[in-house]
Amino acid sequence: MVRSDQVCKYFGALEVLKGITLTVNRGEVMCLVGPSGSGKSTFLRCINHLEQVSAGRLWVDGELVGYQERAGRLHEMHPKEAAKQRRDIGMVFQRFNLFPHLTALENITEAPIRVKKQKKDAAVTRGKQLLAQVGLSEKAQAYPAQLSGGQQQRVAIARALAMDPKLMLFDEPTSALDPELVGEVLDVMKELARGGMTMIVVTHEMGFAREVADSLVFMDAGVVVEAGDPGRVLSNPEHERTKAFLSKVL
Ligand code: ATP
Ligand code: MG
Repeated sequence: MVRSDQVCKYFGALEVLKGITLTVNRGEVMCLVGPSGSGKSTFLRCINHLEQVSAGRLWVDGELVGYQERAGRLHEMHPKEAAKQRRDIGMVFQRFNLFPHLTALENITEAPIRVKKQKKDAAVTRGKQLLAQVGLSEKAQAYPAQLSGGQQQRVAIARALAMDPKLMLFDEPTSALDPELVGEVLDVMKELARGGMTMIVVTHEMGFAREVADSLVFMDAGVVVEAGDPGRVLSNPEHERTKAFLSKVL
């Protein structure tokens, strides 16, 4: 579902990603961990083409991200095409970024109606199903300010799912939450994984990684230091840098 081949990213002279090669198969969950500034968010942003890669290639569902290949040469994709590609990728951030002036249900139905041109009735029906899926049926008419952080984040997940994504990217979805609210968001993500969603999750929740992820990738300074079965990486890290990092987060 996602293949990254020697992906590099520069911001000016700063090399933030130094040749990232990874594969996430359909239906798999990959957890991405690493110290602050190691390039995790940048890598996610490259996957949905919010950032352009400087070198290397990325494919989502067999399609090259952001480029079209014609006669053996790469051509930058038209912004409209890139936007279409991005529509199939759901993203959930640390900050919930809900529209404050819309209810929970309206937050979820906004993009399907405006972008996907769904009929309002159909979007509302689906929106209610999604609210039920994230355990918030009673909060359809609540505004973000009337919801807890955990509830807002669950609405944000439902909103991403409303676009029927092939792939979900999560960038530290629980790190802005009070500890007692983390579990309810992770539970929704676990259900999503069980349902077969392909997911890449930047998180420091190692319990989640161990229980749910098919692979755990440790990044440091723009390189993949170590990757493998989460149980193996967590209990028996091979590299000193992985050990040092894990000793801080576990
Ligand atoms: P954190 O755990 O703190 O979220 P991260 O692993 O997600 O860190 P990134 O946000 O990907 O790290 O940042 C990697 C590096 O790239 C950092 O040094 C950051 O300052 C730099 N960087 C990120 N975005 C930009 C940008 N738009 N322009 C210039 N530098 C950037
Ligand atoms: Mg980040």
